[in-house]
Amino acid sequence: MTAIPADLIEKLRTAHRVAVLTGAGISAESGVPTFRDAQTGLWANYRPEDLATPQAFQANPKLVWEWYAWRRERVAAAQPNPGHHALVTLEQRIPGLTLITQNVDGLHRRAGSRRVLELHGNLFGNKCFRCGKPAETWEDTGEMPPKSNCCRSWLRPDVVWFGEMLPETALRQADASARECEVFLSIGTSTVVYPAAELPFTALRSGAIVVEINPQPTPFSPQANFVLPGPAGVVLPALLAALD
Ligand code: NAD
Ligand code: ZN
Repeated sequence: MTAIPADLIEKLRTAHRVAVLTGAGISAESGVPTFRDAQTGLWANYRPEDLATPQAFQANPKLVWEWYAWRRERVAAAQPNPGHHALVTLEQRIPGLTLITQNVDGLHRRAGSRRVLELHGNLFGNKCFRCGKPAETWEDTGEMPPKSNCCRSWLRPDVVWFGEMLPETALRQADASARECEVFLSIGTSTVVYPAAELPFTALRSGAIVVEINPQPTPFSPQANFVLPGPAGVVLPALLAALD
């Protein structure tokens, strides 16, 4: 069991502004695999970096669509875990909390978190590959992927692929909360995928206390004010318990 340092608890008790960044690691205990974990079954021979790009989709839209269908199914069957739930409680305690996530699984909202900035989009949304217009409906002709109503182009999942820009508003808000927060928690992220990986460094430069929660060290660990090694589903409930 990870001991929670008393000075961190004191800081969190009095903080008005807290920013939290989560990555795939927080959903690992819900059974949603991280990108660094080997893919399983049908997809064992594909690297996510070779599927989650506009080039991959253009070259083989059906393959990429099917990979997303598989991921959607897994996420739909998954449930938020104690790590997600602890962040809901933390938001209730600290109204000035901003939750920034790189995850596309929607588990933070399903757990009950209200202020969530989804930097990489959402697995369950679709948009037009040609013009980017979000699509609520389409004609079901049995084609895979289906065609958009707007351009008769393919539909694609409304997520940010490797090499694509992040949603501007969400990124701007995330950056502002990293600058303004007193405490920044970096949870379950390898801190290698930019620009999200920049956020803990931004918080540090702006004077925040930065805490990393991860069972493995990351490139950010040497700079963190506190490292709480361990799974988010164990460390976050322990942090909450220590606050009470
Ligand atoms: P990553 O796969 O690069 O890294 C995951 C990190 O989580 C690692 O540092 C690992 O040590 C840590 N980790 C593993 N188990 C953990 C646990 N139980 N508790 C806490 N930490 C744990 O993920 P990333 O940094 O988020 O970046 C990769 C990209 O992959 C992101 O852009 C994201 O959009 C995408 N992705 C999302 C999901 C999802 O939505 N659940 C899943 C896979 C990948
Ligand atoms: Zn279109």
